[in-house]
Amino acid sequence: MKTLIMKFGGTSVGSLAAIRQAIEIVRAARAEWPRLAVVISAMGGVTDALIAAAHAAAQGDEAAPAHTALDLRAKHLAVLHALAPGAKDVELIISTYLDEFAALCHAIGVLGEASPRALDAISSLGERMSAPLVAAALTHAGLPAQAVDAAEVILTDAAHQSASPDMEATEASARAVIEPLLTQGVVPVITGFIGATRAGVVTTLGRGGSDFSAAIFGVALGADEVWIWTDVDGVMTADPRVAPGARTLPELTFREISELAFYGAKVLHPKAIRPVVERGMALWVKNTFNSAHPGTRIVSDNGLARGDVKAVTAFKGQCIITLEGRGMIGIPGIAARTFGAVARTGTSVAMISQASSEQSICFVVPCKAAEAVVRALEEEFRLELARRDIDSITTTDECAVVTVVGAGMRHTPGIAGRVFSALGHAGVNVVAIAQGSSECSISLVVEAAEADEAVRAVHGLIG
Ligand code: ADP
Ligand code: ASP
Ligand code: MG
Repeated sequence: MKTLIMKFGGTSVGSLAAIRQAIEIVRAARAEWPRLAVVISAMGGVTDALIAAAHAAAQGDEAAPAHTALDLRAKHLAVLHALAPGAKDVELIISTYLDEFAALCHAIGVLGEASPRALDAISSLGERMSAPLVAAALTHAGLPAQAVDAAEVILTDAAHQSASPDMEATEASARAVIEPLLTQGVVPVITGFIGATRAGVVTTLGRGGSDFSAAIFGVALGADEVWIWTDVDGVMTADPRVAPGARTLPELTFREISELAFYGAKVLHPKAIRPVVERGMALWVKNTFNSAHPGTRIVSDNGLARGDVKAVTAFKGQCIITLEGRGMIGIPGIAARTFGAVARTGTSVAMISQASSEQSICFVVPCKAAEAVVRALEEEFRLELARRDIDSITTTDECAVVTVVGAGMRHTPGIAGRVFSALGHAGVNVVAIAQGSSECSISLVVEAAEADEAVRAVHGLIG
């Protein structure tokens, strides 16, 4: 029998009206998909509020966490009372998690520091409250459902804030915990975003990670399709908040969506894509608030695509690191040593470009890692710096990587030229350029203040 995973994002469960929509979407899908599992985000804004309170607690602010707890209690209970009146068990669950939140914030206050582990424990609470709430609402609406805490199913490593799943162990727990619910026709409502280590310590998969959770459960439950329900009609030609003329794309290849997601299009988490492709599942992005719209279908790469620029995105908060020096030409293995040193800081590089003269290497890293990267490079090349083989290791102010995506671009001449003239006409200064080896994207770096203008200028090329 066919299996469907539906994931509802923060806005899709962010209010009474939204959850009512989500319930009707589940009801409609249920008629066609008797084996249906739901993965759920925290109610919109809750994860941000939890994290902000944790940081405030670390600064010695006791009032902020107390306020947050009151707000979150009111937010969840208002929905619970409207959609599942009398669900005292869920009320108790919410109270228990909010007590845990208060205790964790107190501990953070005492320590004066919010460790990644503590932040994971706190930010996991949003999903742990929303899942029982939505399960109760579904059950009350005549759709038998049960909340499942993914901390009991997804086994991860201990890389807090960006944990990776152990798929073999996760599949075994999914079979034990979730499969029986599917067999009984009960809808599992699973917390997105979270997992736990073998020792039972809660981890998170990274911000926006509920999409990744949906993909993980798709694999673990052998799903045929994964539908991501969000607050726009699908994947669009650009972020609609930046380019008001952005349109929904009916179809996008896995490679195109991977580039867009990696380079900042928040609509889908980049890690959600690979597991789905590898298992040949169908992947859709759809709008909870416009469910009649078909949304965007992600299709496999057939290599036949022809055409132009399909979408453009900007990845903000990036800095360019440059190593420069005439003596660099003679030093063997300089690139390997550079990226080895960067890797030791645990930083991932978003883009690389090297001038052919080999007198400089420049690459892009998140600004928050830039200082650590420069220090690691200064350490690695201490000798070369002393000998003046390398003159300088520098970082820029905040920049953005603008990525232009389209699988057919490689067969279409003149695209790069058009992109650069559009930017030139808009008066945007391009700081660095790289073309992905897949040739389905071109990335360029602009100053942070010009990022939105650059997106709009390139978006103007999309017919
Ligand atoms: P959810 O909470 O449902 O996961 P997100 O806020 O994470 O939703 O992602 C959806 C948002 O992504 C949209 O509201 C939109 O503002 C933003 N976005 C950025 N780039 C794109 C794009 N290319 N297509 C669609 N949405 C985009
Ligand atoms: N609630 C988490 C976040 O806001 C995960 C998600 O919504 O995907 O990052
Ligand atoms: Mg998201």
